[in-house]
Amino acid sequence: MNIILFGPPGAGKGTQGERLAGHYTMLRLSTGDLLREAVRKGTPLGLEARRTMDAGELVPDAVILGLVKEVMAGQREGTGVIFDGFPRTVSQAEGLSTLLAGLGLRLDAVLLLDVADDAIVRRLSGRLFCPSCQAVYNLYSEPPAVPGICDRCGAALSQRDDDREETVRRRLAVYREQTAPVVAWYRARQVPVHVVAGDRDINEVQADLVRILAR
Ligand code: AMP
Repeated sequence: MNIILFGPPGAGKGTQGERLAGHYTMLRLSTGDLLREAVRKGTPLGLEARRTMDAGELVPDAVILGLVKEVMAGQREGTGVIFDGFPRTVSQAEGLSTLLAGLGLRLDAVLLLDVADDAIVRRLSGRLFCPSCQAVYNLYSEPPAVPGICDRCGAALSQRDDDREETVRRRLAVYREQTAPVVAWYRARQVPVHVVAGDRDINEVQADLVRILAR
């Protein structure tokens, strides 16, 4: 099973993607995580991508497709993949389609997490992450036991640079302009698109996603 977790920034794709990956023993492929890792390591790609990410804009399609290709190279006989934060443009969707066909794989469904803009801005402004073990928290919905400290490893929590309000607003505009049209592209190609209300309790959203995938 290969699926896309789709939706605006802050819809819960990362959280739900991790949970689904654990539930089904699938690979979660997050292009945002791959880019942040490149930034952390200070690779040429990371240095180049950082400015684009901090501005809330999209990294070029060719760079993204290169990253995805590398990860997918080992997937022919492997477990299914949950694409998180990819594809973000129609051109990336076309690239993914070619890539999957070349590997003899297909896409089974698009799961769209739907959350209103105001809720997203509130959510992302409350999001914290652990720079050491990458755990993600939210001041409103999943706070750490001790404020500012990671439950898992005890490191001090940080805010992502691109979670500042003005960058979040830009990321939302980019989503509406460049990413949302990808849904119509899949519908036109008969890939099932399931819309799930994302502004609910994390466990309820997960239960809905599992119910859909069980069909
Ligand atoms: P995310 O963690 O998915 O919200 O991604 C964080 C940032 O990384 C985005 O705002 C973009 O700048 C960049 N990014 C992640 N995935 C992609 C993608 N598929 N295409 C272009 N840029 C991406």
